[in-house]
Amino acid sequence: MPEIVMASKSIEELPGVGPATADKLKEAGFSDLMALAVASPQALADVAELGTTVAQKIILAAREEVDIGGFETGDILLERRKSVSKLTTGSKALDSLLGGGVETQAITEVFGEFGSGKTQIAHQLAVNVTRPEEDGGVDGETVWIDTESTFRPERIVQMCAALELDPDEVLQKIHVARAFNSHHQMLLVDKAKELAQVHPIRLFVEDSLTSHFRAEYIGRGVLAERQQLLNRHIHNLMRFGDIYDATIFVTNQVQAKPDAFFGDPTRPIGGHVVAHTSTFRIYLRKSKGERRIARLIDSPNLPEAEAIFTISEDGIRD
Ligand code: ADP
Ligand code: MG
Repeated sequence: MPEIVMASKSIEELPGVGPATADKLKEAGFSDLMALAVASPQALADVAELGTTVAQKIILAAREEVDIGGFETGDILLERRKSVSKLTTGSKALDSLLGGGVETQAITEVFGEFGSGKTQIAHQLAVNVTRPEEDGGVDGETVWIDTESTFRPERIVQMCAALELDPDEVLQKIHVARAFNSHHQMLLVDKAKELAQVHPIRLFVEDSLTSHFRAEYIGRGVLAERQQLLNRHIHNLMRFGDIYDATIFVTNQVQAKPDAFFGDPTRPIGGHVVAHTSTFRIYLRKSKGERRIARLIDSPNLPEAEAIFTISEDGIRD
């Protein structure tokens, strides 16, 4: 398992952080040095009611402690890439489409119409992440933000039976929160960071990423605001993935009917913001019966290609 950088100093020991500031920061999810080190000055200034200069000073001090923030050479980056783990989806074809599985420290987005298998893949990943490395897992646990109430523990039990895993043990490693609106959804990322202090969270599911944003921000007038919030939220998720060496798996719908901005009914929601921040984008389509077709749309280093997999009672398979 790759090493996770965890600094031992507490945030109170940083210059400029008094007890009151420390409380506000912790309340907002900035509970360790790494979280502070990768924060933006404006975000800190907002949550802890500080001037941006003080916020900047705190961030720099935190960066020094955890030793990040400078330039690095390519060989070191290549070494760092080796710390990326790959989590199996349960289908060899789908794994190889993704270069060996779903990566940690990256955002994987699946989009597709209703019933295409987005939520099923998320369930399978939540089971697989608990498994040891030789079985395609990372001995980890899952945080699951559910915006559509589609998480089903019974489905986990079925998938465990197929793999001869103890379902109670696996269920205890899936931490589910229902997000009531987009604001709550964003706050839950901070809650997840607290959870990650005590549990080895290696998979972060958001099913779905966009539904609340889409329902709450309707029309031209609020589009910019929606995109800005979505952008901030996705970067927060990305940071979670980096800090905890976790896989970020988000689902997205396609436009059911043409609207003023995204006329194409097969286009995912969220526009450029989501497109540019996801590391891997997969478009799912239904085929005959249990069969599904996955198309890799966008990846930094893999070719655009397709894979066929199935969804059965056992879960995701070839
Ligand atoms: P979405 O993309 O809307 O999230 P889902 O991931 O919920 O779609 O996929 C739903 C589909 O998964 C169902 O239509 C069915 O084909 C399949 N499925 C769900 N549960 C089971 C099961 N227990 N056994 C077999 N197939 C299932
Ligand atoms: Mg779903």
